[in-house]
Amino acid sequence: MQLQDLLFSQGFGTRRVCTGLIEQGHVLLEGVPCTDPWADVEPQGLHFSVHGAPWIYQRQAYVVLHKPAGTECSQKPSAWPSVYTLLPAPLRQRPNKGAVNGVQAIGRLDQDTTGLLLLTDDGSFIHRMSSPRHHVPKVYEVGTRDPVEAAQVQRLLDGVRLEDEPRPVRAAACERTGERSLRLTLTEGKHHQVKRMVASAGNRVETLHRSRIGRFALPADLPPGQWRWLTLEEVELAG
Ligand code: URA
Repeated sequence: MQLQDLLFSQGFGTRRVCTGLIEQGHVLLEGVPCTDPWADVEPQGLHFSVHGAPWIYQRQAYVVLHKPAGTECSQKPSAWPSVYTLLPAPLRQRPNKGAVNGVQAIGRLDQDTTGLLLLTDDGSFIHRMSSPRHHVPKVYEVGTRDPVEAAQVQRLLDGVRLEDEPRPVRAAACERTGERSLRLTLTEGKHHQVKRMVASAGNRVETLHRSRIGRFALPADLPPGQWRWLTLEEVELAG
């Protein structure tokens, strides 16, 4: 692959911008400057840097972000900063055939919800993860206003009625984890689902944190507001 094509594919700007970056000596391949935009490079596993910032070639991008409270999962947020501003520009600019450029969040979390958010530019992965038919379990740690009663847990497991939903909605799993906390597993992703279900069961969500998608848990060493690449094994675990 030509170096300027590689840079373009990773979101470093238009081909003209990428050519300029290379010719001006801002691009290092495995630590060595390369000023030829048409140099033939093997992209797989290539470590390079642009303006000193390290990057690894990824044919498709799969990332995990620890979403902090006070951020919106929207490209055009209405009141709070967008989670996309927590990602470096190349991840937001990667060219995407026919679709919106950059990585997209797989499902949305509310402004005040924290925790595990996956983002990718792989449309079929987004589709698979979001489709209700695939029943990908998502685990939420819920802090409640009132003490959690056994009957509330049972109601969540049996199914509660939500406005605008024809059938009762039930948790795939639910357990009390403290006097005012519970762990809820859902296989669907309806709007404000956890908050509405807990309210319907007779309590109220005070804090909400997503800890797991499929068999992939939010990495314990990833602080709020930080992101990292997913390994292929982790992508498999999530989906
Ligand atoms: N359910 C909610 O109510 N909010 C979220 O952010 C996620 C699931």
